[in-house]
Amino acid sequence: MTTIINHVAVPLLAEVDVLVIGAGSAGCVAALAAAERGQGLSVMLVERYGFPGGTSTQMLDTFYGFFTPGETPRKVVGGWPDRVVNELDKTGNIFLRPNTYGAGTGVNYNPERLKLVWDQLIQQQGIRYLLHTTLIDVNSAGERYSCVFWNKGGFCKVLARRVIDASGDADFCHLAGFAYERAGEHEPAQSMTTTFRMSNVDLDEYERAGGKKMLVRAMQEAVDSGHHPLPRKEGSAHEMNAKMCISTVAVKVAGLSALNAETLTQAEIEGRRQAFVYEDFFRDDVPGYQESNIIGLSHQIGVRETRRVYGEHRLTKDECLAGLLPNDRIFLCGAPIEDHRQGADGSSETYWEYIPGAGVYGVPYGTIVPKGSQTVWVVGRCFSATHDAHASCRSMAQTMSMGQAAGLAAVQSLRNDEPANAIAIKQLQEDLLQLGAVLDVPDAVADTSRNGWRHNVPARHIYNVA
Ligand SMILES: Cc1cc2nc3c(=O)[nH]c(=O)nc-3n(C[C@H](O)[C@H](O)[C@H](O)COP(=O)(O)OP(=O)(O)OC[C@H]3O[C@@H](n4cnc5c(N)ncnc54)[C@H](O)[C@@H]3O)c2cc1C
Repeated sequence: MTTIINHVAVPLLAEVDVLVIGAGSAGCVAALAAAERGQGLSVMLVERYGFPGGTSTQMLDTFYGFFTPGETPRKVVGGWPDRVVNELDKTGNIFLRPNTYGAGTGVNYNPERLKLVWDQLIQQQGIRYLLHTTLIDVNSAGERYSCVFWNKGGFCKVLARRVIDASGDADFCHLAGFAYERAGEHEPAQSMTTTFRMSNVDLDEYERAGGKKMLVRAMQEAVDSGHHPLPRKEGSAHEMNAKMCISTVAVKVAGLSALNAETLTQAEIEGRRQAFVYEDFFRDDVPGYQESNIIGLSHQIGVRETRRVYGEHRLTKDECLAGLLPNDRIFLCGAPIEDHRQGADGSSETYWEYIPGAGVYGVPYGTIVPKGSQTVWVVGRCFSATHDAHASCRSMAQTMSMGQAAGLAAVQSLRNDEPANAIAIKQLQEDLLQLGAVLDVPDAVADTSRNGWRHNVPARHIYNVA
């Protein structure tokens, strides 16, 4: 552990039982699960930006990973992730959308509404919630961790008995001295994407002009003629939960580290540049888009991976592809490996590999416990997995599931005095099942057939939780 700051001199803000760093999809659910289960224990959630949700609200609008892909979809995630979707569903702010690339049916939502939903759920559970506050240093203080944050009021310190690192970049684990792999160390890191949204798109005109086939042709012609130098001819654009608006995952910035401020600055600049190359192309070459504009870029460039912590267990590609259901599983995943990478020739490509057989694997508890940890968990995109296993197990239904398991485990650890790396797994699994988590592959095929592009379709009620 490298201490940068004199913790003694920093004012004490709080002493808490469970501290969650980062309010992304994983962190919000970790705090919610811990607060609900741990009545009487104090739970604090700290986030560097001014709103919750992380990637779920900064740049995206579709939860993947609830369903397995293919003709016989199974719903493989439940519990708190369902309750989040239910809250969105109450206001009619979801619809299910088929994924053109085969990651399974997605749950589309309005990301601005989701910020409100996260806020409300967090407040309902009595969580101490602090925005605009960044973790910058960690020290051990007896059996607790002393975590130093910075915000506009200066430095402050929180003493925590249990910590859940949900920072996406494993900032806590890095500062506390846990071992991790940096993306790009062994295989090329997944590329980054600035997402953008366009308004005033006439999708009827677009469909009449040939839809997707026409778009693919137009992209090829734009590149061949040099008229619009699109960095990439793949990606996706889809209708949003707002009329005549579309959202994209098209930009691709590869070969730059998101852990270095200088290269991350270059990536932000390049992501914005690419977004407007696409805007010019859409307006000039694609019917239905003539009068459209970019109305929003992602809050920051989308970062798929940075640090992956070495845990008590490391999820591997072989385990995913074997469809293993280990005894200590804490959630399921059926998403294919989806690796956004740069080809050896510098070209952009996305590599897909599906989970064979039932198309599902179970994720062991040890993947959310940093190696040797007694009081710390790591959840979300910095959990313990190899590059290619991570490329499958990073959708938000799965990151929320990791949070759910860590929240319950932290409470169990406090209540029963069990170290993080020696939790009574059967108890944790029982508690997960009680919440509605799915730990066995369901027999029933989920009926997603009647879902359309609008929220007012019957299938939206599949998220009703008793
Ligand atoms: C471009 C892109 C497209 C994707 N598309 C999809 C998709 O369509 N559907 C899907 O399901 N998944 C998708 N994914 C994957 C998925 O969104 C992510 O894996 C997931 O959202 C990660 O959640 P997280 O909570 O682990 O991290 P994050 O969402 O990154 O949350 C981490 C949070 O911690 C905060 N934080 C960071 N450092 C600190 C600090 N030091 N102090 C305090 N707070 C801190 C951050 O501000 C953030 O709010 C996509 C990812 C990207 C990048």
